[in-house]
Amino acid sequence: MTVQMRTCPGCGLEMPLSERSYDRKFHASAECWSVFEEVLAVEFQNAVLFGQVHQLTVDAYAVQHAGGKHPDKSVCVHLVGLYLMLEWGVAPVEVPPLLQHLASGTSWLHLDPPEARASLTVYDVAVAEGAQMHALRVREWAAQVWRAWSPHHDAARELARGLIVPAQRLVR
Ligand SMILES: [Zn+2]
Repeated sequence: MTVQMRTCPGCGLEMPLSERSYDRKFHASAECWSVFEEVLAVEFQNAVLFGQVHQLTVDAYAVQHAGGKHPDKSVCVHLVGLYLMLEWGVAPVEVPPLLQHLASGTSWLHLDPPEARASLTVYDVAVAEGAQMHALRVREWAAQVWRAWSPHHDAARELARGLIVPAQRLVR
C-alpha cells in the first residue's frame, strides 16, 4: 500500500495525507500546521524554552508560510520579528510589544516569498530531542528562513525604522 503524501505549499514539508482540514491564514498544509501546534505545545510547557525561542518559532513559521491567503501585514510583522532578533539581538521576550506597536500601522508591502527555501522546517524542531536541541534547532531554522528572505532584508529594515528598541540591545 502506498501512502499518499501532501506537500506543504509554504515550507515544502511532505507528510502523509491526513483527514485534517486547515482554514487559517498561513500558507500551510493541514499536516504541517499540526506539527507547528505540537511544537507550540512543547514550548508552552517549558517556561525557559518559551522565553528562549517561542517568538523565533512563531516568526520563522509565519515567514516561511508567506504566500496564498497569508495577509501582507502578518508577513511583514513576523519578518520584522526575525530582523529584530537575528540582526539586532533583541531578546525574543522583548519582541511582542515592538511588533504590537508595528502592527498598529496601516500600510503594508506585499513581499513575495523568495524562490530559495530554507531546508529546515518546523518538523526538524518537532523531532529535536530535549529542550536544548529544540532551542538550537529553532535558532538554526529561523536563521535559514531569514537568510532565504535576504531579497526582503531592506524592506524589513525600513519597516523597523522608528521602533524604539531597548537601548542596551543597540550596543553591540
Ligand atoms: Zn509548512
